[in-house]
Amino acid sequence: MKKDLGVLLAAAFLLSGCQSGMGSVSLDKGLLKSSARPQVRAKGISYSLYYGSNHTHTAAGGDDGKLSLEEAFSYARDKGKFDFFATTPHSHMITPDGYQTLRQTAQKFNQDGKFVSLVGQEWGSLSRGGHINIFEANQLCQVTSGDWNTFYKQWLPAHNEVSWVALNHPKLNDFAQSLINPQKDAVASKFSTIATIGSRSDYEGEDGNAPISEKAQTYDYFLNLGFKVGSLGETDNHRANWGTSSPVSTGVWSRQLSKSEIVKAIQARRTFSTQVKGLKIWFTLNSNEMGSEGSSPRAMNFTVAFSDPSKQTTNLYLYGDLDGPGGAQATTIAQRPVKDGQAEWNYSYNASKSGKMYFYLRAVSGDGVMAFSSPIWVDVK
Ligand SMILES: [Zn+2]
Ligand SMILES: [Zn+2]
Repeated sequence: MKKDLGVLLAAAFLLSGCQSGMGSVSLDKGLLKSSARPQVRAKGISYSLYYGSNHTHTAAGGDDGKLSLEEAFSYARDKGKFDFFATTPHSHMITPDGYQTLRQTAQKFNQDGKFVSLVGQEWGSLSRGGHINIFEANQLCQVTSGDWNTFYKQWLPAHNEVSWVALNHPKLNDFAQSLINPQKDAVASKFSTIATIGSRSDYEGEDGNAPISEKAQTYDYFLNLGFKVGSLGETDNHRANWGTSSPVSTGVWSRQLSKSEIVKAIQARRTFSTQVKGLKIWFTLNSNEMGSEGSSPRAMNFTVAFSDPSKQTTNLYLYGDLDGPGGAQATTIAQRPVKDGQAEWNYSYNASKSGKMYFYLRAVSGDGVMAFSSPIWVDVK
């Protein structure tokens, strides 16, 4: 008999509650059963699941995609069925006035409860440190592309309003040349997301999207450098078919569908990347939810609720980096098969020592990764 995610989540969290003694991560069983959107609770707050796209291009303002911003937002909302959508024009292709016009246009499409529209800007140089998306800046970043010294030491500290920065289509050595010290610099905490799944079919431009194996490699690489980055799906769509040519998207657990809450949820990294429309992951470690930083005793209880409507996922892998940033990268801690696209998984693990660690989930089909959760970072005592 097929179970829905709500039932799985309910079972998972009841188990979690038993094991960790009224853990502060739980779920509202009733709401899950009656709601099309699954709902979870963590530390007294309820979150619902929303899907969106956070890296796209249009022709608006001189960017190198297609169609206008109005056409893009309408398409993404009505045909792509996204709950939230961000367009991220190349900063060097648009003007400061053009950027302000884009922000105003986006605001007209924002309808709390129905659709969240965002404008970011894609800054950087592929040959000098890589591309990033900067969100919620009140000005266009006019720092020369690739001049990380000015960007990182002057521009970013002067723009506290920036809500988050995404590492785009990452390659090994990207951002490493860019002076960012994720373990020491306060401003580095702005770099809070990384693209872990991309879509070649959506891309039409100069940088392309790395194959999934490379994305997995870069995820582990940047986490091990000490970046506390959550997982995003990235289409980098330049083809005016936002949400219809590729199922790649980002799942976000948010208090509600409003611009401020979606932004907060992404800042908190309650996110996962997915290759499948409607795929769902919720992942906790003791009382710590997906994306969070906390502490844990050596006896750890992991709880996973997973649903893949395409039923392609064959296995879940729990990845962990037991010596934290530096040293070895994350490796497989445990795995379990997925049957019929559904899984609930409670896994106990006893760390042999204390220290800083992080853990995340991969959903896998054959050689391909279907989804990556954001990590949970814990200080194990
Ligand atoms: Zn790019
Ligand atoms: Zn792009």
